[in-house]
Amino acid sequence: DARIKLLYERSASSKKVVESIREEASRVGREVRIMNFCGTHEWTITHYGIRSLMPENVKLIAGPGCPVCITPGYYVDTLVKLALEGYHVLTYGDSFRLPGSSLKQPRSLYDAKAYGGKVTVVYGFNDAIELASRNKGETFVFFAVGFETTMPSTAVPLVRGNLPENLLIFPAYRLTPPVMRFLLEKHPEARIDGVIAPGHVSSVIGWRSWSFLAEEFGVPTVVAGFEPLDVLLAVLLILKMINAGKPSIVNEYTRVVKPEGNVGAKEAMSRAYKVVDAYWRGIGVIPSSGAVHREEFKKHDAYTRLGLEDRVVDDKLPGCKCPEVTLGLATPLDCPLFMKACKPSNPYGPCMVSVEGTCRIWAENVPVI
Ligand code: SF4
Repeated sequence: DARIKLLYERSASSKKVVESIREEASRVGREVRIMNFCGTHEWTITHYGIRSLMPENVKLIAGPGCPVCITPGYYVDTLVKLALEGYHVLTYGDSFRLPGSSLKQPRSLYDAKAYGGKVTVVYGFNDAIELASRNKGETFVFFAVGFETTMPSTAVPLVRGNLPENLLIFPAYRLTPPVMRFLLEKHPEARIDGVIAPGHVSSVIGWRSWSFLAEEFGVPTVVAGFEPLDVLLAVLLILKMINAGKPSIVNEYTRVVKPEGNVGAKEAMSRAYKVVDAYWRGIGVIPSSGAVHREEFKKHDAYTRLGLEDRVVDDKLPGCKCPEVTLGLATPLDCPLFMKACKPSNPYGPCMVSVEGTCRIWAENVPVI
């Protein structure tokens, strides 16, 4: 692969780090499984062929860090219904084609639009505010998908109190540290020896939020940036901690991430939202991993204003291995539908929809294992 050659030959630093990784890995003397939490890290690893640079005994495992992949399918069912009833549903582009809980048409907001439903793709919550302000005769419902990185975009305007009355938020937010705790407690078969923690999320919640991985589970953790060299350094630091027998948390992404994160954003999030147990698609209910509006912001809450019910519905699609892929228990290549019935142009399962989904990343960047 020419890209790998370029990376290896042109970058003396990368070459040195790869050599050190090989040295440390041979000292470990067993298989080491490192989970990269974030979909963007998975993109860097797959796009630049970083797996092919790893020694035989170092495995890089894609983790649950794709918010679209884990958003409940029955949320989509509800929004599809609202769009067909005349509510104007606003969605980010990466949730537009997210399939609902069944194979029944219309399966996604994209399909709902084709069926005559009102659906508009927005770049951000500010666009939603502008649209609702300009069209007072309509009721807008914003599909608020994302991790802690996107939560402040609705939390800050809510707290400032400058939202138009006809703009409702459908909160689908999920919190990231609880899913790693869940994975380590409930899925020991994933055999995680180290974690590359997400850089973007950590810029909001702070690197200290990941300390529990080392302190409670003895799993070395590195908060890393998204350049190939960031990822290589994270792998090296994890191997060094394993060899030293001293699991800890290291912040490699010092150019962006602070120990406490973005204090203002965190304050707005906790004023606007209350942490609750929440369902992750195909996986189950994870304690303290979701968010609902606090009482004073219920006037903008889609559930309250429209009398909706949040009832868990089985949303695992027949044959789709997304839950296993998300938890690091399978790769897209283990799914018989990968690049057959499920492709980026016609996604069948949720991990093929977003650019952060492991299946989509593997489909668009030939994986070099
Ligand atoms: Fe699901 Fe498609 Fe991935 Fe298979 S290839 S696990 S069906 S998203």
